[in-house]
Amino acid sequence: MPVDSGAQTVGPFTELVELYGPRVWNTLAANVPRDLRWNWLLLMIAIALLIFVLRRGRGAKGADGRERSCGLLEYLLPRDIYTHVSARVDVWLWVFERALRPFWAVLLLGSLGPLIERTVIGTLTAGLGAGPAIEPNLAWMLLYSLVLLLGYDFTFFLLHYAEHRIPALWAIHQVHHSAEVLTPLTRYREHVLEGPLYASAAAIGYAVPAAAFAWLFAGSIKEITLFNIGIFALLFGFNGAFRHYHVQFRYPRWLEQWLQSPAMHHTHHSYLPQHRDTNLAVVTSIWDRMCGTLYVPAPDEYTPWGLGPERQAECRSFTQNIAAPFRDWQRMLRATARRATPQP
Ligand SMILES: [Zn+2]
Ligand SMILES: [Zn+2]
Repeated sequence: MPVDSGAQTVGPFTELVELYGPRVWNTLAANVPRDLRWNWLLLMIAIALLIFVLRRGRGAKGADGRERSCGLLEYLLPRDIYTHVSARVDVWLWVFERALRPFWAVLLLGSLGPLIERTVIGTLTAGLGAGPAIEPNLAWMLLYSLVLLLGYDFTFFLLHYAEHRIPALWAIHQVHHSAEVLTPLTRYREHVLEGPLYASAAAIGYAVPAAAFAWLFAGSIKEITLFNIGIFALLFGFNGAFRHYHVQFRYPRWLEQWLQSPAMHHTHHSYLPQHRDTNLAVVTSIWDRMCGTLYVPAPDEYTPWGLGPERQAECRSFTQNIAAPFRDWQRMLRATARRATPQP
């Protein structure tokens, strides 16, 4: 029914958009720049420059996943990678996913996170009484930052492991793996249905330890921050951007047994059988080691990216990637129905 709003008569939908539009726009604007932090990208370029100098032009991979020697511009911004159809699809998938993200991010992080916190604090208080209200010091803050990091790394690992093992979930996650080249935007290459899964994992992985520490310290503990960002968010952010860059940033081999170097994600995106379903965590190697999915590659190991020759043609364009899970679920349902139908 039309509504009279003073000077002009507007319909109920216009009124709704006028009322909530600025809020939605503000949420979008607040979310988008966080994706590509210039300080992370600049740090990434600085490290890539250092690798270029130290390795005398070696250490970067081409669109075919092979390490090669090249000049500086080609080293930092290779033409075959940034003009690849996969890099263009990265941009569209990112734009599409980011436009929708604020809606479920607000819904899940705003409702599931607080619900988990209330439940954990309520359960601890019911079982053990009021928390001891410990006075936080630097050591406690370090421990808090580490527990948050391990908590989120673990829930991310669990979800990622499930996505690689359960066909119905792989149908969604394959969109990330359909990337034939790696660019910093590939990090955000995901199906719109994957966002709510990761937001739920983030809410659980963050809220459970955060609530336990809030109970212990009567809500007064804070994370250690660097450049105004929590150490936890900083490590995830930096590692997330660099591991989808074609320049290999490796740690010493012994350290890669504990922390995932960005180059270890190059093997995660490879379709070779020995690389499949490996290096599933983001920051640490601990969970992968415990579950037998850790793979420390040899120097300059060949890592052809994507789904492999048999599947790639089905998941190349933007629309193919958006349709991919629905197409695969339909195939699974048909196969189940065929199996359930008695043969004459
Ligand atoms: Zn994966
Ligand atoms: Zn990835």
